[in-house]
Amino acid sequence: EQHLDDVDPEISAAIDDELRRQRSTLEMIASENFAPVAVLQAQGSVLTNKYAEGYPGRRYYGGCEHVDVVERLAIDRVTALFGAAYANVQPHSGAQANAAAMSAVLDPGDTILGLDLAHGGHLTHGMRINFSGRLYDVAAYHVDANTGRIDMAEVERLAHERRPKVVIAGWSAYPRQLDFAAFRRIADDVGAYLLVDMAHFAGLVAAGLHPNPVPHADLVTTTTHKTLGGPRGGVVLTNDAELAKRVNSAVFPGQQGGPLEHVIAAKAVAFKLAASDDFAERQRRVLDGARVIAERLSSADCAADGVRVLTGGTDVHLVLVDLAQSELDGRQAEQRLHGVGITVNRNAVPNDPRPPMVTSGLRIGTPALAARGFDAADFAEVADVIAAALRPEPDLAGLRSRCEALAAKHPLYAAL
Ligand code: PLP
Repeated sequence: EQHLDDVDPEISAAIDDELRRQRSTLEMIASENFAPVAVLQAQGSVLTNKYAEGYPGRRYYGGCEHVDVVERLAIDRVTALFGAAYANVQPHSGAQANAAAMSAVLDPGDTILGLDLAHGGHLTHGMRINFSGRLYDVAAYHVDANTGRIDMAEVERLAHERRPKVVIAGWSAYPRQLDFAAFRRIADDVGAYLLVDMAHFAGLVAAGLHPNPVPHADLVTTTTHKTLGGPRGGVVLTNDAELAKRVNSAVFPGQQGGPLEHVIAAKAVAFKLAASDDFAERQRRVLDGARVIAERLSSADCAADGVRVLTGGTDVHLVLVDLAQSELDGRQAEQRLHGVGITVNRNAVPNDPRPPMVTSGLRIGTPALAARGFDAADFAEVADVIAAALRPEPDLAGLRSRCEALAAKHPLYAAL
């Protein structure tokens, strides 16, 4: 048996280079995390060889006795973690979880109501050239121009005007908690299903640090790789037996063929870890870190440089920075931070005057650094480096060495 280094030195070198990048830079993309070695091992296992179309106990292939154990454990753990009666753990990604959840309750041409992409929504919540915008009639709600918070009066008004069949509550770039009870009431008023996409904040929910949408929603979707810290993938949860059946047939055979049982095994490992005290402690550092960064970037010296924190703070794992008044646009700020060793993504701010490839904002997240062991004091140092980097004519070499010191203080993947 030949090792990857021998079979394919080019891919092997790229993997080594990526490991080096992850170890030596500060990863602050809000949707990213570092999967534990146990998760990587499960995902890199022989389960990848197995076809298992169907569900545990009801497969269309022989030899599924062991992958049935894996998939049942994943289902049992994720339902216990989030207090849901039913789970489908087969979606290959968050986008596929959303596609399946929507197709379980919608026909093409039906109306959905979701947060506008440019105001923090996700592509799958109704973007024009995404499946969601092509298949469904889309109504979009927004954040309030003054507060930066979701305009629930607009949600209510649009629900009554457009009579959606599904109301979607969830976001990719929003620094506050959603009022699930208010969404539920609005959905009930117009006879709509409520779909909560908790992809970004699922890890906080698992740790008991964010309200759980499961008791409020008809359907809850999530990714498993963001705050939850598992392998890349998706899950659909529900408490309704009839919806659970419809979701299962929407995932397979509706959307997918054979499930990725190696990924499902890695999801099961991640769900087990997410139920631990260590995980809850880590998520507390995620929140502390985001709060420390929001406070630092809200200070008078940052304001003088035209740096503004949207909504004035954060309740979650990310901070949204508005640079509309800064000499830097989103792309320049992203490049500036990349130059000192911090990876973030530029992000459109609501009513952004600049095009999507440039933008006027940054999205800064703390989950990956918290997974490395960063605490509030470390995040204060990171916040200081970010604030200094966004000033005119920063000392880039000095800031770079401060980031290198933080990375060295918290080694990553020592076992690899
Ligand atoms: N839902 C939300 C809210 C997201 O932010 C994302 C990812 O960015 C997704 C769904 C899609 O997940 P994936 O990239 O796994 O398809």
